[in-house]
Amino acid sequence: MAQINNNYLKLQAGYLFPEISRRVNEFTQANPEASIIRLGIGDVTRPLVPAVLKAFHEGVEDMADGGTFHGYGPEQGYDWLSQVIIDKAYKPLGVDLKTSEVFISDGSKCDSANILDIFDLSNKVAIGDPVYPVYNDTNVMVGRSGQMNDEGYYDGLVYMPCTEENGFNPDFPSEKVDIVYLCFPNNPTGTVATKEQLKAWVDYAIANDVVLLFDAAYEAFITESDIPHSIYEIEGAKQCAIEFRSFSKTAGFTGVRCGLTVVPEELMGTTDKGEKYSFNKLWNRRQCTKFNGVSYPVQKAAAAVYSDEGWAQVKDIIDGYMDNAKIIREGLSAAGIECFGGINAPYIWLKTPEGMTSWDFFDKLLNECFVVGTPGSGFGPSGEGYFRLSAFGDPKNVETAVQRIKEKWGK
Ligand SMILES: *Cc1c(COP(=O)(O)O)cnc(C)c1O
Repeated sequence: MAQINNNYLKLQAGYLFPEISRRVNEFTQANPEASIIRLGIGDVTRPLVPAVLKAFHEGVEDMADGGTFHGYGPEQGYDWLSQVIIDKAYKPLGVDLKTSEVFISDGSKCDSANILDIFDLSNKVAIGDPVYPVYNDTNVMVGRSGQMNDEGYYDGLVYMPCTEENGFNPDFPSEKVDIVYLCFPNNPTGTVATKEQLKAWVDYAIANDVVLLFDAAYEAFITESDIPHSIYEIEGAKQCAIEFRSFSKTAGFTGVRCGLTVVPEELMGTTDKGEKYSFNKLWNRRQCTKFNGVSYPVQKAAAAVYSDEGWAQVKDIIDGYMDNAKIIREGLSAAGIECFGGINAPYIWLKTPEGMTSWDFFDKLLNECFVVGTPGSGFGPSGEGYFRLSAFGDPKNVETAVQRIKEKWGK
């Protein structure tokens, strides 16, 4: 019989969201008339905007005609999409990229997982705690870790606690590492890094031969003008950073699937003979071998996000989500609950009142307010005592949820 990849057995078996569902189901069975409001899941709720839909439809129509039909496209994505992204999403930030540095994909969850293909297993990896679970679990799956210990950390991985004390921007790893994952604006904490803080990361990375894997999935939600949208806004970042972006949260593409990864040509690693080698070349080779591109209509739809009309429509939806975030943040603060994030990200990270554990607060919120959120401890040990609420809901429901919380907790 074939041996399985035993690393998969080290993973904690999909605990967080199934456990949330179990508790919610149990509650609804006992209280069938309670109107539950779900502010737990990190998925968008608003439909695609008209300009994007129009381009999507046109892309499908093109496929119906022999003259405009598209078969296999470039594995790296169409140049016209990469160029629009460079011109509309990067140039205004003062960042110059070549189309050969932009790789279009079916989303950044996949990219942030697949990127491990181009790094040797011997590299030491540091991740945040709490963290987007993909970074942790994919490193376990490829065999970079030992077992999980009693505290919830995997042997062999380096964890960087993101706490109130450090403003949720972690300290540099205390030991020598080769790869650091950063996610700003952050999921789950909703917090951001300033230009100075990102500069410190870039300086650290260059000084210590570290590659930064920078997840910018939420950059479009930044409302404060001095917060960087891209790691490449920092001088020197092209020497040390790979950036992931996604159309998922930005433009409601969670069910459509499109993202991109930037691998600058300057970014070098070393071979086992100690020679420099380009990560861009490796990622290109990887994509050409294992990926066959994103569908043509989807790339047409993605390009329309950056049309004048498309961007205005998309921005309107983002502003609506951020209005929700504001309602949640201000409402909870008024009820005496300490909140973080929610200003430049669609997540509010709240400190559970009265020192409750994350799961105790989950139960209380469900049973007394009929509101579902996500326990912070599910994102890592340092998330204990915190709780994530998402702003991707319907504004009326968000208002109602906040009202209920205020009534229960307002002093
Ligand atoms: C939602 C999300 C993504 C986007 O994933 P896609 O695969 O592009 O849908 C990436 N990173 C983080 C931290 C996210 O929360």
